[in-house]
Amino acid sequence: TIRTRFAPSPTGLLHIGNARAALFNFLFARHHGGQFLLRIEDTDKERSTQKAVDVIFDGLAWMGLTPDEEPVFQSSRQERHTEMALKLLDQGMAYKCFSTPEELTAMREKAIAEKRAPRYDGTWRDRDPSEAPAGAPYVIRLKAPREGETVIKDLVQGEVRVANAEMDDLIILRSDGTPTYLHAVVCDDHDMNITHVIRGDDHLTNTFRQAMIYRALGWELPQFAHLPLIHGPDGAKLSKRHGAQSVVEFRDEGYLPEALNNYLLRLGWGHGDAEILSREEQIQLFDLDGVGQSPSRMDYAKLTHLNGVWMRRADDERLTNDVMERLQNREGIIANDKTRARILTMMPGLKERAKTLVELTDSAAFAGFTLPLTFTPKAEKLLDENGRAILAGIGKDLAELSSFTPEEIDKTLRAYAEKHELKLGAVAQPLRAAMTGSTTSPGIDLTLYALGRDEVLARIASVLS
Ligand code: GLU
Repeated sequence: TIRTRFAPSPTGLLHIGNARAALFNFLFARHHGGQFLLRIEDTDKERSTQKAVDVIFDGLAWMGLTPDEEPVFQSSRQERHTEMALKLLDQGMAYKCFSTPEELTAMREKAIAEKRAPRYDGTWRDRDPSEAPAGAPYVIRLKAPREGETVIKDLVQGEVRVANAEMDDLIILRSDGTPTYLHAVVCDDHDMNITHVIRGDDHLTNTFRQAMIYRALGWELPQFAHLPLIHGPDGAKLSKRHGAQSVVEFRDEGYLPEALNNYLLRLGWGHGDAEILSREEQIQLFDLDGVGQSPSRMDYAKLTHLNGVWMRRADDERLTNDVMERLQNREGIIANDKTRARILTMMPGLKERAKTLVELTDSAAFAGFTLPLTFTPKAEKLLDENGRAILAGIGKDLAELSSFTPEEIDKTLRAYAEKHELKLGAVAQPLRAAMTGSTTSPGIDLTLYALGRDEVLARIASVLS
């Protein structure tokens, strides 16, 4: 069965490039009825933090990319990595290298002077370790092949190859006895029975090196798929100045996980003109042959558009809960059950207009305002003498309504407009200003209904006082 893994290093953000790799691994496994695993690559103790681990767990959970097995922490497998390095040493596939830092520096400087790529020159490859000074520190290097080439049949990039003469003998165990990243990944992917390694194409050179380790260990290589990177809208490397880049930031800025998933999927993967895809459809359609070979550009406007689409599809209760959470700490707002009920009632109208949950929250906030409201300049203008007269009149009619329903409210407003030879908007606008402090709201009948008669009359009175 097919087994994929997402293998982030817990050293910072859950970047959207990583998130997309996680998504593709997840979808590929699901599509083929296989398993999706998570491995935390925390061998770099200096840079790995618990906070970054939490960010990964939270981000994946939010995106609905839950692994099928307990996550594996790479650091817990160090003994196994060491064991495999020593096995290679035993079998003569690896050797102890006693070159000193000064010698390595000299090698590097010589290579640079001769305009060659700096490489370890293989001094200790065939030398007898007993020639080294007693107790001298050493690393273990792989005896990499020097002839021929290493070829990877990449499922996205096609056949990629490198001449072995261009590679050097990579270190698999450091002088302090810790395994290197390249070696650890090979041992882990093998032991976790990973069949497909799907990751960013910045790992392509690692793949050649890892292929050499696989072969030395006599292990079958997994299939590889290297994904082109995500660039900023201007084609440059994605950076802070382009806007949000980490999954958490997108969540805070009010994006739904469905929208981010949908967007990241479409970024670099296509299936005809399918644009809006649910998780089920994604699983059904996803395969690696739909992944493009060129880098994708982040398009924030498109993401925002997709978010609007997914918001309109989202359940009203869920959106209301999210808005209430975002309202909790806002000044001048009572975020209680009453406010919640008002927002839920208006949600069908509110979500039509908003493109993000932040916008949705802004547009719903008036439900929890305390009196007196503050008014935008435009709203202020609507509440001039004329506007106030309308409010006073319509306030009376609304107070007398026998049942305060959207239908009855609508009828009342229309009757009032007709009687005073006004357009409906001329009645609705000052009311809207009085209810919200602004000039936008869902339909006025729904808005008044949601606030409830007492609150509507109180807000009118507050303007008139
Ligand atoms: N830990 C690596 C990273 O975060 C990924 C390694 C891999 O996918 O093989 O870039």
